[in-house]
Amino acid sequence: MSIKVNLHAHTFRCGHAKGSEEEYIQRAMQNGIEIMGFSDHMPFLFPNGYQSGYRVKVEDAKDYIDCLQKLKKKYEGKIDIRIGFEMEYYTDHFKDMFNYAKKLNAEYLILGEHFPSYEDGRFEYAGVPTKNEEALRSYVDGCIAGINSGVFTYVAHPDVFNFVGDKELYSSEMKRLCIAAKNADIPLEINFLGIRSNRHYPNPLFWQIAGEVGCNAVYGFDAHSPLPAYDGQSEEAAKRIIDQNNLTLIEYPKIIDIQGVTL
Ligand SMILES: [Zn+2]
Ligand SMILES: [Zn+2]
Repeated sequence: MSIKVNLHAHTFRCGHAKGSEEEYIQRAMQNGIEIMGFSDHMPFLFPNGYQSGYRVKVEDAKDYIDCLQKLKKKYEGKIDIRIGFEMEYYTDHFKDMFNYAKKLNAEYLILGEHFPSYEDGRFEYAGVPTKNEEALRSYVDGCIAGINSGVFTYVAHPDVFNFVGDKELYSSEMKRLCIAAKNADIPLEINFLGIRSNRHYPNPLFWQIAGEVGCNAVYGFDAHSPLPAYDGQSEEAAKRIIDQNNLTLIEYPKIIDIQGVTL
């Protein structure tokens, strides 16, 4: 089986990806991808003036969209290019972020909870190993609120939070996340970047829980360079996660068109 849809790719504008968009597209096309979505880290200027260094800069946002709209036209009929963002859910900023994405003419969003926020306004990368139980709960709360908002096409690397504390707590929290996704009919992404770079995700325990709950899964290449714009090498490992946990793989996820959503 070959993969036909990938909605997870970045561009050089986020500061940690390389190559031209067209190289990504060529690579995807040559390997039979039918629907290719770009979902770079959503630019956002926080009300306190803070602009994260790992996102697309606000001043580059228009260029990101313009460039992809041109390529979308250029490749029409050959490959279906979709223009989106990967975005966090922050209770206090969600509406503003969503409306900004919409104003930029983005078509879809995936939820990527990389930097859960803390009550004191701090942000910390979810991938840093931690035993902080409050942080785990806050990560899961953020994911669930994002899932229930109805605007996200899927949850990217739902297992990015690197909790190394009590396993039972981890399980019960992730079960909450999985049940929310199941109830909202939102798929969870098996992240190929995690596979190919041997990260702490995909997390076997997480996917066991997702399987028990009966969640749907999608594949996401999470390309930060042209080569993984088709990542066939990680497919076997991903397929094993699907099979071992009785997950349902959604090959053509339903893409939620954010232009049709009013908050
Ligand atoms: Zn991500
Ligand atoms: Zn990503």
